[in-house]
Amino acid sequence: MLDDPKSLAGNPTDNNVAPQVKPEEKLAELSFGPLKTVHVFWLAGMSCDGCTVAVAGATQPPLENLLTGTVTGVPQVILHHPVLSIEAGEEFIANFYKAERGELDAPYVVCYEGSIADERIAAATGGYFSAIGSERLSDDVHRPIPTTEWLKRLAPGAAAVIAIGTCATWGGIPAAAGNPTNSMSLMDFLGKDYRGTAGLPVINIPGCAPVGDNFTETVAMVLLFLQGIGPLPEFDELGRPAWLFKETVHQRCVRGGYYEEGIFATEYGGKECLVEIGCWGPVVQCNITQRGAINHMGGCMNTGGVCIGCTMPGFPDKFAPFYKTPPGSTVSSNAVRTYGAVIRRLRRMTQQFQNMEPRWDESNQPVPSGWGQVEKPSLVNKAIHYLYEKMQYRGSVRPGDYVGEGSLKAKGKHTPEV
Ligand code: SF4
Ligand code: SF4
Repeated sequence: MLDDPKSLAGNPTDNNVAPQVKPEEKLAELSFGPLKTVHVFWLAGMSCDGCTVAVAGATQPPLENLLTGTVTGVPQVILHHPVLSIEAGEEFIANFYKAERGELDAPYVVCYEGSIADERIAAATGGYFSAIGSERLSDDVHRPIPTTEWLKRLAPGAAAVIAIGTCATWGGIPAAAGNPTNSMSLMDFLGKDYRGTAGLPVINIPGCAPVGDNFTETVAMVLLFLQGIGPLPEFDELGRPAWLFKETVHQRCVRGGYYEEGIFATEYGGKECLVEIGCWGPVVQCNITQRGAINHMGGCMNTGGVCIGCTMPGFPDKFAPFYKTPPGSTVSSNAVRTYGAVIRRLRRMTQQFQNMEPRWDESNQPVPSGWGQVEKPSLVNKAIHYLYEKMQYRGSVRPGDYVGEGSLKAKGKHTPEV
């Protein structure tokens, strides 16, 4: 935890955020269910609202299904969101105070979008960086309440705290070199000892912007866990949902076949592997190529973009300059280029034979296609393919080669005469 988090939040009354209780003691308190509803408080710090846009477009499950309580087993979500909520003004902020005082009728979860700014810097000149609501200091003086302060007030009583987007998970762009607002991530702000009332450290769902489905799916799984009917989802050592962020972009990339055959794009717009024009996919943990950005559509390499590592704690500084070949890829891509040139030729040869019906092989006549002339394999290719087939059918019988009674082979044919 920060040495002096209360001054960072600009709140003179708060004490430490992290309840000093051992994780195993907190885990004993896990049974919240059966629950009909769960409140979700959405706090926006140094944010572009891109995370909200991403979540609004989620489809698995859709946000509206969570809000209407139509995801089987998952309690209905009552969302308190500065942009999406219908309530405004005092009616909107009243629930935040109720949560702080422990007066809500159901458990609550805090979601934080954007990084956490050092409000002392803004306060020094009488301002603030990001705030929700205000408190009345006198008849005509109101103090905006920084979202950092709301986080400090609400985190101790939250069943779980979820950081959404790379700004909230790792600091992101506001915390890039220079960092005039001294911005930081939730983990940096709350510290490693923080646990929600369900015993969980901060859950991190990175991405700039994140895949909306990654968020709604994780929320649904956490709510099933709080409900008492689902297991605790698996998170990695940085609090990322492990099933979503274990693999690299490269391992699921639609251009992986080009990489493996050593075929690389030399300019943007190419269909080949993008590693030589700046893709960091081989070392970046992200599932967007497999899941798409929204409703299985889009996603960086699927639409021609290189990976600039936006889900990673080192983003953006450690991936700059964008669109320059990552140094590590020079070794691997040159090795793959050499190996790929040989493999590619062998594969094309096999492909040529697999593009032939067995009848065409046997007849030795031109392929009866009206669309064009099909090139015949050369003698060298035939010889190589003969050896290939020997390996392919070693230990088994090539279709048509059965020599038992009545077999075609016994009649010297692979296909019956017509
Ligand atoms: S475009 Fe990037 S992620 Fe895709 S295969 Fe090439 S290096 Fe890997
Ligand atoms: S592929 Fe790279 S740039 Fe694209 S969303 Fe994933 S981590 Fe970000």
